[in-house]
Amino acid sequence: MVIFTEQNVLSSHLSLLTNDNKTIGFVPTMGALHEGHLSLMKEALKENDSVIVSIFVNPTQFNNKEDLEKYPRTLASDIEKIKMLHKDILIYAPSVEDIYLKDIVSEHFNYDGLETKMEGKHRTGHFDGVGTIIKRFFEIIQPQKAYFGEKDFQQLQIVKKLVAKHNLPVCIIGCPIFREKNGLAMSSRNERLSPKAREKAAIIYQTLLAAKTQFQTKSAKEVTQIVSNVFEKHPDFNLEYFEIADEETLSTCVRKSKTKKYRGFIAVYIENIRLIDNISLY
Ligand code: AMP
Repeated sequence: MVIFTEQNVLSSHLSLLTNDNKTIGFVPTMGALHEGHLSLMKEALKENDSVIVSIFVNPTQFNNKEDLEKYPRTLASDIEKIKMLHKDILIYAPSVEDIYLKDIVSEHFNYDGLETKMEGKHRTGHFDGVGTIIKRFFEIIQPQKAYFGEKDFQQLQIVKKLVAKHNLPVCIIGCPIFREKNGLAMSSRNERLSPKAREKAAIIYQTLLAAKTQFQTKSAKEVTQIVSNVFEKHPDFNLEYFEIADEETLSTCVRKSKTKKYRGFIAVYIENIRLIDNISLY
């Protein structure tokens, strides 16, 4: 296991691999690793000669200072988890300075409107920060394949758009959502929940499953109202949004079309911690 903290050292190491015709698979993370992250690494291990995992809490994608400060940072145990999975995975855990030098600012991106929906609407500048860091990582690492979870489905679509618009030579692979036993989507933020809240948060996935059933026979508007009613009955939760949207454009479903694939997207607060999840509705 080799851990890199400086992009120059990493780039020299990776160019040796590339000269040797080795394929590179890349898994970007913000650390506090769980089974969801590991599932991405397992997929990458299957499909590439070398796998590199980044562990970097990217400041420019946080629109909330407290969320950034409280984001769990567990580098030592992350390294152990990766080591247990495979001894040859490379780790890139840079400092903020290594990535941003002195200017911790985002580039501005146009993702053909994908950035104005849902997460983009509620987290100003979030996807500029995501685009900035992912583009930077792709430049440094030059992977053939990069792995992203459907847990952050909007991010996955945005990264695909980034790659298409900038003609980046990398294939983006979407991986299914990994869940806890009670259905709660695994997330580093779950670590900040009390055991009670973590149990109660199972209602998020239960509600998504119910929405999927209801959407067979009801309109998007009706299903959205049903979901909103559920959370009104649970004062521990604060529903930020539930939307049924077209998977490709992320536009809200107004009238169902048989030719489109829809997904239900949710963001909800419990104990002041923001959780997101989504489900395919077909
Ligand atoms: P993060 O560390 O939260 O930035 O996540 C790093 C990558 O892991 C992103 O591509 C996420 O979508 C993915 N990921 C996070 N949680 C899960 C999960 N429960 N199942 C699958 N992928 C996940």
